Formats: sequence, C-alpha cells, structure tokens
Amino acid sequence: MNTQLRVDGAAVPEQKTSDLTKMNTQLFINGQFVDAKNGTTIDVLNPANGELITKIAAAEAEDVDIAVAAAQKAFPAWAETPAAERGRLLLKLADLIEENLEELAQLESLDTGHPIKDSRRLDVPRTAACFRYFGGMADKIEGSVIPVEQGFLNYTTREPIGVVGQIVPWNFPLMFTSWKLGPALAAGNVVVMKPSEITPLSTLKIAELIKKAGFPDGVVNIVPGYGHTAGQRLADHPEVGKISFTGSTQTGRNIVNASSGNLKRVQLELGGKGANIVFEDANLEAAVNGAAWAIFHNQGQACIAGSRLVLHEKIADQFLEKFIGLAKSIRLGNPLDPNTEMGPLTSEAHRDKVLAYAKIAEEQGGKVLLGGTAPQDESLKNGYYVLPTIVEAKVDDRVAQEEVFGPFVTVIRFKDDAEALAIANGTEYGLGSGLWTNNLQRAHLFAKKIKAGMCWINSYKRVNPGSPFGGVGKSGYGREMGFEAIHDYTEVKSVWVNVDAQVPPHFQRGE
Ligand code: NAD
Repeated sequence: MNTQLRVDGAAVPEQKTSDLTKMNTQLFINGQFVDAKNGTTIDVLNPANGELITKIAAAEAEDVDIAVAAAQKAFPAWAETPAAERGRLLLKLADLIEENLEELAQLESLDTGHPIKDSRRLDVPRTAACFRYFGGMADKIEGSVIPVEQGFLNYTTREPIGVVGQIVPWNFPLMFTSWKLGPALAAGNVVVMKPSEITPLSTLKIAELIKKAGFPDGVVNIVPGYGHTAGQRLADHPEVGKISFTGSTQTGRNIVNASSGNLKRVQLELGGKGANIVFEDANLEAAVNGAAWAIFHNQGQACIAGSRLVLHEKIADQFLEKFIGLAKSIRLGNPLDPNTEMGPLTSEAHRDKVLAYAKIAEEQGGKVLLGGTAPQDESLKNGYYVLPTIVEAKVDDRVAQEEVFGPFVTVIRFKDDAEALAIANGTEYGLGSGLWTNNLQRAHLFAKKIKAGMCWINSYKRVNPGSPFGGVGKSGYGREMGFEAIHDYTEVKSVWVNVDAQVPPHFQRGE
C-alpha cells in the first residue's frame, strides 16, 4: 500500500521532495510492512486545509496481538544482545534521522500543522539527539553494590521488563517516538508502539529508518490505530509488561483500569495547566517573549504549555500591552511556509473544542483580551486555525482550571508571593511551571514549593534528553528522559551471595 502523498497548498523546499511523495502506510510488524488483517484504513487529513493526505492501515486488536507475539519472540535475543550493540543501533538511527531531516520535518508539518521552521530546528534535531543520548546510555545501565552485613555480597542488576506498549498522542508525534523508544530499547525491552490515529506519518517513516538501521525483526513494531481498539488491546494485553502513555487524563485513567488484569507497570504523561508567574522585578522583555513561546509554540498544543499567565498586579498592565502586541504580530499561515510562526491546530474537533473555551470564559465573566475566534483570512478558511487568544479570568473559572490545549492563555493577577504560590498550586495538575524574577531567594523558594514535575526560572519549556520529564497529581507519574527513564524501563533485582558468612543454623535441634 504505497500511497502518493499530496503536499497541498505551499511550496515545498526543493531538497528531498521525491522522498516525501512516497511512503509506506502499512503496519510495521516483525520487520515487515503489512496491511491490517481486516483491511481497515484511517484517513489522514491535512490540518491546513482539511484535505486527505493519505490513508493508513488501521490496526485492531488482532493486529496488536500479532505485534505483541512478534515482540515476545524477539525479546530473549534482544535482551541478550550486548548493550553496546543495542547502543550502536540507536546511534545509527539518530544518524539516519539527521540524514532524513528535511523529509521528516515536512511530514511532521504536513500531518500535525507544526510550522516547518520549528520542525526543522526543533522536532527533528531533538528526536535525533534523544536517540543519540539513549544510544550512548545503553552500556552505562549499572546496578550497585549495597554495603550489607559482613560475609555477604549484595548487588543489584537492572533487567528489561519485556514487551512494552507505548501509546503516543498527536501533538509531538515524532519527538515522542524518541522519548519512548530510546530508553525502552537501550534497556533491552522490545516495543509495540501505537501512534495517534490523527498523526501517524512521521512514526511510520521512523519505522522505515529502524529497518534500515538494522534492528532485528520484532524488536520494534508500529501499529497505528484507534485508541478504543488498538490502544485498548495494548493496555489490557496480558503479555505486555508496561504501558508508557502520553495523552489525556481521562485516557490515562482508562489505561490504569485496563492494565489491572496482569498488573502491568504504567507510566503516564498526562495534561497540564502550567503556571507561568511574572514577578514585579522580572526582566519584562524576556518574560514577554518567554511567555509567548510558552503558550503559542505548536499552537499551544503542549502538555507543558504556560497556559496560566500569573502576573503581579504592579506590572500586569504594562506586561499585557507588550504581550498582546507580540501575540498580534505572530504570523499564522501554511505550516510548510518557512515564514509561518503558528500553523493550524491538529484536528477539526480539537479546534472546535478550543474555540468553545472562549465562550465558556465569557459565560463565567472572563474577558477576552485578544482572539477567541478563527482568523478571517480567506487563505486560511479551510484549515483548523485559531487566533492567539488571551483571556483574563478568575482563578476558579473553567479556563483557569481545565486544559484547553490551544493558543489560549488565561491571565490571573496576584498581589504578593503567597497569593502567587496559591494560584500556581491551585489546580489538579502539576507538570510544567515557570517563574520570572531577579530575586534569587524567591526563585529557589518557589522552585521548592511549586507543585510541578518541572520548573523553569527565567525561561520556559526547556527540554533535554538528560533531564527528567513528567508530572505529579493529575499530570501523571513516572518520568521520561534521563536516568529516571531507564529506571522506569527496568526491573531492579537484588542478589545476595554468602561469600564468607558464618551464619548459625536458623533451626537448631537435638542439642
Ligand atoms: P487521548 O488521550 O484520547 O489520545 C492519546 C492517545 O491515546 C492516542 O494514541 C489515542 O489513540 C490513545 N487512546 C485513546 N483512547 C484510548 C484507550 N481507551 N486505550 C488506549 N489508548 C487510547 O487524547 P486526545 O483525544 O488525542 O486529546 C485530548 C486531550 O488530551 C487534549 O485536548 C489534551 O488536553 C490532552 N493531551 C495531552 C497530551 C500531552 O502531551 N500530555 C498530548 C495530547 C493530548
């Protein structure tokens, strides 16, 4: 099922366009591209104009079972493969991703609506960097020696879990393949990954590169499909030892329930409602710029987005004037145009959900300071665009509590540090957070007291493969990236050896 991709609407840069016009759209199971057993397909739409890009094979429960069986078969040999060899394959994959940067960037932008500028300079390089980081780590996964009582040697080893199921959302599909596959494979696990039904294309391209890199058949299986069928089967499959999931809190709950049959491990990266606090002593230019990036990058479709802008009342008006000015100047356009700074939202249903929040804000007495609608521009009318939206609201309003997941920021004012902290910690989420201040003591105090898995001081949204990423509360549990991720993808075993211990018999009889 090799399908022609149509690149609609915008001029495509010259290099590698021929690669973009052909790609494999089948399931990747046991090293082969195959159709779904019952032949079903999913339409993949271009969010910039609503037109069909291509159809992909849709995995259902039966296909997931076949993929899990292939992974199980591949597991013993992969787990025994020297760690340095596993690392070499991951490094090779990183190289191939860099060699295919342009094609991957175009696919990601076409499928998700990411501005091509960002796909080229962020998504693809970060994907390669993450695979490279975990490639380098594969032969550094060490246990420890524990100083126990005299005469005994006690050491730990870190063993792979086995078959890992990975369920990926639509907001950063390419990058998330590396966040999930990198540590899982480095640690010796085998994987069945289900990309989002909305944005499977870059992951299918990664499948091609995995084959080209020389990974043994069955070590990685990619099965795009719907959540309630393929995703559900992966979550409840008795032979899957762990599920790593990124997506909504409600689906996270479903996965925890589905996992209870075999008590599989679950790692959850869920939603967020990131507080981005600007204190009265902040460098305003930097804070305005950072706050705009925090919410408008990828059209706000990021779990760590700085979607609550918490402003000290002394600087709020001045800040907002500059912030609104910057937001107004953001260039919306076709994602494949290198001048575009904000593309469309990734799906029509999601665009409608985001727009509905502007009405919800007003119904609760909130004030829309900017946007809240789709752009009027004729050239954008068929795409899923939303104008940068800035809303002022009360701390308990729905737009200050619920994840909107769009270019939609809720402004809340505060009087003093205690109030700022209460606002920041006043949601059920706890993922990303940020603060802008020149007061060192306050910065570290807030970093300690803020309820979040990540805190950025005088910046926002920094990520690095070495730095643990994840949340608390309804933002989930477990961590991606860094050594923490390796811990999440291994079982620790404690081994006791009697090397020289004179242990008296536990049961003394007949004396
Ligand atoms: P979702 O949770 O429904 O989907 C995410 C992934 O889970 C997809 O691959 C989907 O197919 C799969 N899935 C859905 N139902 C499933 C089930 N019962 N069992 C197993 N897998 C299942 O998220 P969505 O509908 O794509 O987006 C809804 C909201 O989720 C967004 O508005 C946003 O708030 C949040 N979200 C968060 C992130 C994040 O990075 N934390 C990413 C995407 C979406």
